[in-house]
Amino acid sequence: MAILLDGKALGLAIRETVKHDVDTILRETGVTPHLAVILVGDDPASQTYVKGKENACRNAGIRSTVIREPADVTESKLLSDIDALNADPDVHGILLQLPIPKHLDPDRIIPKIDVRKDVDGFTPENVAALANGRPRLVPCTPRGVMRVLDHYGIAVAGKDCVVVGRSQIVGKPMAALLLNGNGTVTVCHSKTRDLRVETRRADILVVAIGKTRMIDASYIKPGAVVIDVGISKVDGVIAGDVDFDSARTVAGWITPVPGGIGPMTIACLLENTLVCCRSLIGGPHD
Ligand code: NDP
Repeated sequence: MAILLDGKALGLAIRETVKHDVDTILRETGVTPHLAVILVGDDPASQTYVKGKENACRNAGIRSTVIREPADVTESKLLSDIDALNADPDVHGILLQLPIPKHLDPDRIIPKIDVRKDVDGFTPENVAALANGRPRLVPCTPRGVMRVLDHYGIAVAGKDCVVVGRSQIVGKPMAALLLNGNGTVTVCHSKTRDLRVETRRADILVVAIGKTRMIDASYIKPGAVVIDVGISKVDGVIAGDVDFDSARTVAGWITPVPGGIGPMTIACLLENTLVCCRSLIGGPHD
């Protein structure tokens, strides 16, 4: 039976460290780290995620502000929100909650976020830095995955790593981080010819596809590390992209959902906010 990779416990430990660091920054500089979140429309899932981020900030002593815009907000209004946050010296991190309504193009809006306040690591400069192997601000979910591997002493170098999913926010930065860690990386997606053949080669399998419980034991090499990024709700129950009960009989290590990568994502968002704050006020980086 697979060993559980407990992202909830690790996430809480990271949040405690962040809280301690926030106290130190405040004591030494008088500055309270401050995250601004832009929320467009009233998508219930986005509202829940933003509430979770607000609570996490509050518990860590980080100030948070949510700028709420209606679903029909114009691009120019959003850009002026971003301009104001970029110019505000009291704001250290800026996050645009995704997805945004269809009439808005994230590729036209995200690049306007000040690269030094880009807590999500989605601006072209931060994406390029990661791709070039010199990461600065790294997207929170893949960063959370790497923190879990590191914490449990799971080496990446030389391993066959398979990432299922190639989104900008999870799959692609995940692949870049594993490659930077000297893994041999394969990225799979909806057009992959035989997914099972690819995933069964994986020493480390990261799944981020948004297909509830699709990856069962038949996709997994015995003893593999299985990281489930997926989050969906079925009949009121939170589930991942991995069929946990089936997969755990074959895997060597596995993250649960909930309690795996979700809490790590939030913890890494708080860490990224501190990284931004320190670099803006001239303190030491992490
Ligand atoms: P996207 O929908 O943006 O991307 C899904 C990816 O999966 C695409 O690359 C798609 O391929 C691929 N895919 C879809 N179906 C299949 C299939 N049957 N076989 C192989 N590949 C497939 O999703 P995200 O990356 O944004 O999110 C993925 C999951 O992770 C979701 O459940 C989301 O809720 C969750 N998530 C969790 C977070 C956390 O904090 N734990 C944070 C962010 C996301 P193609 O490119 O060809 O279309």
